[in-house]
Amino acid sequence: MTSFSNTRLLIKILASSTLLGCSDVGPNNRNEVEITQNTETSVLADENIQKIYDTALNGLHSYEITKSLTTEIGPRLAGSRNEARARKWATKKMNSLGFKKVRIDNFDIPGWERGVETASIMSPSRQQLFVTALGGSVATPAKGVRADVAYFENFDALTSSPESGLDGKIVYISGKMKKARDGAGYGPANQKRRSGATEAAKRGAAAVIIRSVGTDSHRFPHTGQMRYQDGVKKIPIGAISAPDADQLDRIFKDGKNVKLNLRLTPKSVGPKPSGNVIGEIVGSEKPDEIILIGAHLDSWDLGTGAIDDGAGVGIAMGAAQVLLESGLKPKRTIRVVLYGSEEVGLLGGKAYAEQHNDELANHIVATESDFGAGKIYGFQAGKTTGSKLFVSNYASMFKGLNIAAIEGESDGGPDIGPIAALGVPTVRLNQDGTDYFDLHHTPDDTFDKIDPDAMAQNVAAYATLIWLASETDIDLRGQ
Ligand SMILES: [Zn+2]
Repeated sequence: MTSFSNTRLLIKILASSTLLGCSDVGPNNRNEVEITQNTETSVLADENIQKIYDTALNGLHSYEITKSLTTEIGPRLAGSRNEARARKWATKKMNSLGFKKVRIDNFDIPGWERGVETASIMSPSRQQLFVTALGGSVATPAKGVRADVAYFENFDALTSSPESGLDGKIVYISGKMKKARDGAGYGPANQKRRSGATEAAKRGAAAVIIRSVGTDSHRFPHTGQMRYQDGVKKIPIGAISAPDADQLDRIFKDGKNVKLNLRLTPKSVGPKPSGNVIGEIVGSEKPDEIILIGAHLDSWDLGTGAIDDGAGVGIAMGAAQVLLESGLKPKRTIRVVLYGSEEVGLLGGKAYAEQHNDELANHIVATESDFGAGKIYGFQAGKTTGSKLFVSNYASMFKGLNIAAIEGESDGGPDIGPIAALGVPTVRLNQDGTDYFDLHHTPDDTFDKIDPDAMAQNVAAYATLIWLASETDIDLRGQ
């Protein structure tokens, strides 16, 4: 496939990586760069891509934005005053970066607030456990629930047990989550968090504790949203830290009976305001055609929401900022959407799909950063044939960042799920999430965990992606 344009591209990207002097940035070999391209690719591959690389990799765009959000606002629970303050912060930041048409799309959500949370083993030997209520959980009685514990080694063991016999007990669901670069362990481990209370209540239980959905061995429990099923009694549910779960597992293995005292006092607080914050670089030739790049502004309340999803907020805003700083004028409109209330059920993503329904046909492609602050290793299509063509055609543009095309289809991401379901094509940049679930939804999700070099690589990749999407002639909607 060697041609004049390919050779030119190779030289450009090699020049760029030498110039930048980044030790782990640069194409591995010539053959990898020489993949299928059309002439359009080579036009796009010229100095514009190099400008993007230079600006992003030598800057602290996302790092500074994430620092500002997590330091000036801190935790941003959906529907809270801090989430509202974060919306104000975001509009101010977007305006200061030179984004246009900055506005907030408002919507209301059912509010929920954390209360007191304590748990102790009362027998066979008194000891404290570290516990946190899951989002949406009802409270225990004010003094707590004191009861015998029924042990289940994982969620399947509970669902395959008879639908009775746990009257008044505290159900404990164990089960470790597997560590994986792509976060594949999360879905299976998350079942007990989402549906544990319902399954235990069907069997008569008074309350539930689960082993935290996480991959660390620290003593912080991981929160996260749970769900009640209509027509099933609502019982309180909390997560205990991994070492505390190990401790309980050992006691049960010894064949001992366990009595526990659990006290959780969260409460529902009625409708609360939330919103999505939007800012744009208006397209120079096709302003009505939209390239959407998203992240979510809300976080859980325990940490400062740095990796989930302050990093994504920094990356999405930083990528657009890099295009502006590079002096590039995208043909299509780049729309940055910072979603509200993602953590409590993708409420911002659903609100966007409703409020922007009449212009979804003009959304060329959507992408999203919501998997922490690790480096990106993959570029992956969504469900349309057009998105697959886009990825195979432009994969070479990401080689200089050590990013390779990944086979198969991705679902894009959580917040763009509702618009993807309505036909908006998606593409994904896959981040290394090996350590993501060590911190996810814990008090340890704080800014010190963020590496500026990894953030810069993310910004370079997303800036390249939205630039290519704004200029391409490939029809991403093509089936
Ligand atoms: Zn998130």
